[in-house]
Amino acid sequence: MRSLLLLATLSLLPTSYLRGQPEQAAPGPDLVIIGPVLTLDESRPRASGLVIDAGRILKITDAASAYAAAGPGTRIVEVPASGVAMPGIIDSHAHLRGVGTAMRQLDLRGVESPAAAAARVKEWCAELPKDAWVVGRGWSQELWERKEFPDRETLDLVCGGRPCALRRTDGHAVWVSSRTLELAGISQGAPNPAGGEIIRDAKGRVTGVLVDKAMDLIERVMPREDDPDEIAADLEAAQEEALRLGITTFVDAGADPATLRRLADLYSAKRMKLRVHAMVSVDDEASASQVFAGPPILSAYDDRFSVRAIKLYADGALGSRGAWLLDSYADRADHQGFAILQPAFIEDVARRALKLGYQVCTHAIGDRGCRETLDAYERALDATGSHGLDHRFRIEHAQILSREDIPRFKKLRVIPSMQGCHCTSDGPWVPDRIGDQRAVGAYAWRALIDAGCIIPNGTDSPVESLSPWRNLFSTTTRFMDLPNGKREAFYPRQRMNRHEALLSLTYWGAQGSFTDDRRGKLRPGFQADVVVINRDPIKCSAWHMSRIGVVATIVAGEVVYEK
Ligand SMILES: [Zn+2]
Repeated sequence: MRSLLLLATLSLLPTSYLRGQPEQAAPGPDLVIIGPVLTLDESRPRASGLVIDAGRILKITDAASAYAAAGPGTRIVEVPASGVAMPGIIDSHAHLRGVGTAMRQLDLRGVESPAAAAARVKEWCAELPKDAWVVGRGWSQELWERKEFPDRETLDLVCGGRPCALRRTDGHAVWVSSRTLELAGISQGAPNPAGGEIIRDAKGRVTGVLVDKAMDLIERVMPREDDPDEIAADLEAAQEEALRLGITTFVDAGADPATLRRLADLYSAKRMKLRVHAMVSVDDEASASQVFAGPPILSAYDDRFSVRAIKLYADGALGSRGAWLLDSYADRADHQGFAILQPAFIEDVARRALKLGYQVCTHAIGDRGCRETLDAYERALDATGSHGLDHRFRIEHAQILSREDIPRFKKLRVIPSMQGCHCTSDGPWVPDRIGDQRAVGAYAWRALIDAGCIIPNGTDSPVESLSPWRNLFSTTTRFMDLPNGKREAFYPRQRMNRHEALLSLTYWGAQGSFTDDRRGKLRPGFQADVVVINRDPIKCSAWHMSRIGVVATIVAGEVVYEK
């Protein structure tokens, strides 16, 4: 096939090339890509050939010229006729180590009842030593008939007396066995910690579900996950998964210093190819001063690794009713969720970040959490006279927004970093939590884009699947994940069109991570981060979109994954 194509293009080659002796020819560029190309660059949106050398895009051209440019040392990648080569995917919010860890823990995503979860736990325990911890994640009570939190008794029946800790799908609640509560010293009368909740039943008994900051009580007694080799193994497993799916830049939405150190080791050993824009987690003054003791890392290891962003939490999540709302939850009177970090702390971190050149990325989901974060950013910008600064502060999730706050993003130049797949997973129960009135302002991409914002898009994996293709489907259709495969969209007027959705997975992500001068589009001089897929995401059916297959992933001109 390749030689036939080559013959067909020979007649188009300049005669000087034909006369040249092969052994005298220059080795040629590193890589040539032949076939349909979708650049996402307005100056030349479509092409049929790419010439790549020394990690950069040399030429965007046609197939014949790309072939002509190839030399004996050039690798040639062919794009399937039904597919395209496009900019590598930037997942703008996911958890690198979490993706790796989840791959070796009990996976409860999609379980349809507490009993089904318990059956999986029982099966898992069969392989475990008698006193080992049972650790898993992925359950959601929203998929169950009675949409209620589970209880510890269900786990006690199957754990064989073992401590058990199962994180909710969003990572904002944990379901534990009685043995776990005992180890953690949580008695019936234990007070709720600030920013968290120990769930109790009508009689005031501790049920075995702990939300947000209350999870720390459990984490304190869980086996530590700080073995450097284990961290490295998790990171490498996550990298493999990311490259397989076509992700070339991974924005890690909150890593601890030990993980970042291990990541740096992997880069210096040339074991990491994936680019990572890391947010370092800050949850108190001690971790803040540790970060601010040094300058940000802007582009280490051939521009593959940056640590210039700080991750803060303004509130919890909607599923576990920790998201901080302006008014009460529709399904829990007199409860408005809570602040995790105080707004004054967010403001203080933002001020220091502005002075030292750090980016601040704050998790905020409820309308109150989002407003308080915008307010805190605004006060910090005022106090430091930084309104003209290219700070690229972000709000992660920005799920529920009050109408008045939407224009403030543009005004303050705050980037809403959102996740298409959260809308379609959460959509079925969001109106239960907040009522229809407020649900109109939920996952409001259209309103934000129309107000002049860009939206870096992520999967928040392991909360959701890491697949950018599933995310693309969610973002453009807003079809909810409903039982029996029914098709119903969550406020379809807020959809992104396909071009916007592709930008949200590429160029807008580069803007959200300070790399839009070299990444996120296919353009001469840009970094050669490319994904070759088997469908054209602009032209294919919506059904095909969620099933796009990756043929090859290229980072800095190197083929790092091939089907
Ligand atoms: Zn996250």
